[in-house]
Amino acid sequence: MYERQRKEMVEKYVVAKGITDEKVIAAMRKVPRHLFVEAAMRHQAYLDKSLPIGFGQTISHPTTVACMSQLLELSGNERILEIGTGSGYQAAVLAEMGVKVYSLERIADLARRTQRLFDELGYYTIGTRIGDGTLGWTAHAPYDRIIVTAASPDIPEGLLKQLADKGRMIIPVGEKTEQKLMIITRDTEEYHILEDYTRKFVPLIGKEGWTL
Ligand code: SAM
Repeated sequence: MYERQRKEMVEKYVVAKGITDEKVIAAMRKVPRHLFVEAAMRHQAYLDKSLPIGFGQTISHPTTVACMSQLLELSGNERILEIGTGSGYQAAVLAEMGVKVYSLERIADLARRTQRLFDELGYYTIGTRIGDGTLGWTAHAPYDRIIVTAASPDIPEGLLKQLADKGRMIIPVGEKTEQKLMIITRDTEEYHILEDYTRKFVPLIGKEGWTL
């Protein structure tokens, strides 16, 4: 179902936007985005739109997911920490790229609903937990990659510590209204920061994020 629309979405938005990572393109051709949005929104699932997923949260634009996935520079063997499971779409795209994903979500009911969807769709390489992602998930650290899908006022210290040597983290940092996507690479105890485009994400709420 929706296969033609999904392929069109990838061509019209993802490839047209300049995404060249074949693994990202192949994954986005596979993941059924319409199952990650509310039933009433399914007809809009293959537009380049962020859509409501309940609990005051949104699923990111497909082009944002594509761009962040490409910026992670994955070969397919990495272990990834995702902060902000939300609908689960970003995690599913990463799982389709062959990596192991550890994903944290602070809204318990949303996390449980998304875990059920992963089970139904057979995404067994995604591990989820309910909790404050600004503190990371120490049990499985260090991570080759960290992706934060909500906007943070700063780069959380705990996440930097959980990034593996030669690892890479993608995180939107800035004000609540707009943020710069930051690409952080670790070289032993040195961290290098590059800035990508300005974006708008929902806020990262937590001890090392925004307060409610
Ligand atoms: N990756 C998601 C997707 O594919 O749908 C994007 C979801 S949304 C843009 C960001 C998510 O981050 C929301 O579900 C929100 O509840 C969650 N979030 C915000 N602060 C968080 C925190 N401190 N720890 C874990 N999740 C958090």
